[in-house]
Amino acid sequence: MNLPHGFLTQITKQLGSSLPEFELALLQPSPISVRYNPKKKLDSLLGVSIPWAKEGRYLDERPVFTLDPSFHSGAYYVQEASSLFLEQALKQSVDLSQPLKVLDLCAAPGGKSTHILSLINSESLLVSNEVIRSRASILSENIQKWGHHNILVTNNDPAHFKNLHGFFDVIVLDAPCSGEGLFRKDKNAMNEWSLSNVELCSQRQQRIIADIWPSLKQNGILIYSTCTYNEKENEDNLVWLERNNACEFVSLAIKPDWGIEESKKERAIGYRFYPHKVKGEGFYLSVVRKTDPTIPTKIKSKPILTLAPKKFTERLTDWVSHFEDKEFIVLNELICMVSKSHFANLEMLTNQLHTVLKGTAIATPKHEKLIPEHSFALSIELNQGMFPQLELTKEEALSYLRKENLEVGVGQKGFCLMTYQGIPLGWVNLLGNRLNNLYPANWRVRMADKIE
Ligand code: SAM
Repeated sequence: MNLPHGFLTQITKQLGSSLPEFELALLQPSPISVRYNPKKKLDSLLGVSIPWAKEGRYLDERPVFTLDPSFHSGAYYVQEASSLFLEQALKQSVDLSQPLKVLDLCAAPGGKSTHILSLINSESLLVSNEVIRSRASILSENIQKWGHHNILVTNNDPAHFKNLHGFFDVIVLDAPCSGEGLFRKDKNAMNEWSLSNVELCSQRQQRIIADIWPSLKQNGILIYSTCTYNEKENEDNLVWLERNNACEFVSLAIKPDWGIEESKKERAIGYRFYPHKVKGEGFYLSVVRKTDPTIPTKIKSKPILTLAPKKFTERLTDWVSHFEDKEFIVLNELICMVSKSHFANLEMLTNQLHTVLKGTAIATPKHEKLIPEHSFALSIELNQGMFPQLELTKEEALSYLRKENLEVGVGQKGFCLMTYQGIPLGWVNLLGNRLNNLYPANWRVRMADKIE
């Protein structure tokens, strides 16, 4: 592999005599891994366990994920193994049994956010933010597939969080970086690499850290990660953070056979993943506890969320499991289910931020009827037994996902869930002799069956 000269100089300093092993690893194919959704259990889970992530599995080969209906039902997420170490960072530094307010600041396409949702409890709230608008909609789609309602997806610059003094218990900052750890997987990352870009990334990361630091609570946890090896974007930023703010680094327990390297610079502690030592791509992560006495400011907010009328919510009691701890609001005529215990927080955040998704869209009222929404079919709170359902074969499921006409449910009428391996994919409206395929047009699978 023709590594950029400046990168080679830098990584040689870091690796010394193990450079040839590193270079050799870059010539090997990237490991393929997925993380299963514990709330959407498939009968058989394929693959070999990833030791630092309960639901993570390495696969022997890369299937065509787009042509697997379970990928679209949110039964798993395709995610690089090293980045799943976030699970250890959270489990070892935070009491996950508590109701938490978590911010995933740079969240698209949603790997870390969906992982966080599986680790926090249902009384917690995740604010999943992405600054680039087009990426925020991909994030929103992946979040809906994962099926949790305790979520707010926002599309804001990190600076917009400055006002939320001491609000979050946990902030995950998976920073935009020079991507050295992706050289094997993504040739563009190598072509775009330069020393000046490393410098630029490092400055941007410092600005982002400075922007979000005030919104972390005293004793709150910042999890900082990048997919790059150099110290400028990792240790140096953390040393800079510690010199300018009251905080301490959290040491994590790692097993020697995981191959993860602990790094120390001044008081900064971090964990580095090299592809010749770990079965995964390049990655760096550090856990910081804020010790600054941050007084949370009470932010006045206008009441802007409208509760759904009782005549509709009463009818939802059978549709939704754990109905009592949910709140139902109306957004542009759409009834959405949000977290009851975080209602005031959601109102305040909606006042402050540009929101893309609030909770789970459940239904649209039409002439006193409730038309179920697609994201409700994917919700883990859907009372599946309350709805007629049809289990599809793989071919039928792909036809459904392509939004084609299906010949199922002939003679039946009404809204019906399409399931694959028992997990809902979406709705159809059965009309007796034909049906309306209600799969969202913009999520439609466009790939043909056979790839040349
Ligand atoms: N956490 C994501 C996941 O696990 O799927 C991956 C995040 S990726 C490493 C970094 C993200 O930061 C990208 O989605 C990118 O659009 C966003 N980003 C780029 N520039 C940014 C900036 N100046 N401030 C905040 N986020 C930025």
